Amino acid sequence: MLGAPALFSQKSHNQNKCGMEIVKTALIAKDPSWAQRFEDQRNSLQGIANSWKNRQQSERMAGKTTSVPTIPVIFHVLVTYNEYMILGGNAGIARRIDSQIAVLNRDFNRQNADSVLIPTNWKPLYANVGFRFGLAHTDPNGFGTPGYEINIIPDAPGGFSGAGASYSDAKHSITGGFDAWDVNRYMNVWCINPVDVSGLLGVTVARSIATSHSYPLNEIGVCIHWETLGKRVSAADSFIQGTTAGDYYDQGRTLTHETGHFFEIWHTWGDDNGRCPWQMPFKDDGLADTPPEAMAKFDNTPYSISGGTYYDTCHYDGSIDTQKSLGCPCLDYMNYTDDVGMHLFTPDQAAVMDAMVLTAPSSGLPGLNGSGIEGESYGLTQNPGLLNWSTRTGVAQLEAEKGLAIAPNPSTGIINISFNSTKEQLTDISILNMLGQEVAHKNTWGSGSDYYSIDLSGMSKGIYLVRCNFVSGSITRKILLQ
Ligand SMILES: [Zn+2]
Repeated sequence: MLGAPALFSQKSHNQNKCGMEIVKTALIAKDPSWAQRFEDQRNSLQGIANSWKNRQQSERMAGKTTSVPTIPVIFHVLVTYNEYMILGGNAGIARRIDSQIAVLNRDFNRQNADSVLIPTNWKPLYANVGFRFGLAHTDPNGFGTPGYEINIIPDAPGGFSGAGASYSDAKHSITGGFDAWDVNRYMNVWCINPVDVSGLLGVTVARSIATSHSYPLNEIGVCIHWETLGKRVSAADSFIQGTTAGDYYDQGRTLTHETGHFFEIWHTWGDDNGRCPWQMPFKDDGLADTPPEAMAKFDNTPYSISGGTYYDTCHYDGSIDTQKSLGCPCLDYMNYTDDVGMHLFTPDQAAVMDAMVLTAPSSGLPGLNGSGIEGESYGLTQNPGLLNWSTRTGVAQLEAEKGLAIAPNPSTGIINISFNSTKEQLTDISILNMLGQEVAHKNTWGSGSDYYSIDLSGMSKGIYLVRCNFVSGSITRKILLQ
């Protein structure tokens, strides 16, 4: 690729589609002992996968069924006002988050509709991880939550820098971000604009690299580019362009890929600088059932287009055929293929992830890698109650938080709307008639005021709805015009 013509510029632009290599390089620069720790981890993955499979077999023989309770997810959305509007405001963000959860549940349960594109010889490698994900509906303080929180950040710098530090600024309120929710009970996802790395779609701090001398525990989680959030439902939805003309990162696969890292699996090519089995040190991803691969595979062809098999330089060295009939693992979620070209996790990848939420072994059953301890993310599966809406919620709480007052009511014309602007950001006010039709509208974003007057004196007498659209949700109240 060195000295390649401009033809390749688009691909080099997307070299860092995922920040995993950036994070590892930064950690090794800070503390060289991390290089060996990463090698140890890579070398442990097959053993972990095998232990999990053995245990699963033992449990099946003992008549036990393994089911993993749903993992509560919280989305922390940090966008500029312009990005907020591009996403469709609060309602648009809620819709994209719902679609994102649906994508995770399909991709991790062998239910993705595009699996029909998996070539026949790959079908046996289409594995079921069996994880369920749901929006958290109880926050760490016991209050109700929609499963996301939104903050509109300043236009400059318009996002966050520090890919090597995994955008730690976005993860702390003191630096303009959102604090993580208890990382032992919630999976935290931050939706941000990573302004410092062109083409970066996501970066993850896995539990294995968060220790007191690398990342703080409260930085465990995933950052994704705000414009990869969710799955496209309409042509008007805005997503980042993929590397094949006409493709977009619009199928929610950025979070599928990063969630793979979150549960400790590696890129299929192993970030080993293009080496193949006959070129030492060949490392790859540490798992046997993903064929050896030289480098990340971009684009979409040929699996989803021609149904053919794609070989890279690790196919054959004149005597060893390593990719055999499979070709390289382009269609794996842990590759860099465009969203529409990735369709599966393999059984070994699924086994590693499953082991991460493994319960401590019961008597007579083998534990994780013989260690007898529970999986590192076991706690995430032990709080399904957080998915239920807390009873400590509702409009009254929202109004109390916002200090909203609409007066006088009844009114003869002028209505005055005030709220606590230090706690909340109001984007606009809509006045609706009882048919739900908007009869008046006031943009309030950026005014900095905490007080607005709207004159309805020209309108017919009767009941109207005043809807105040805050960044974190809308409050609608009835008023009587006399
Ligand atoms: Zn990655």
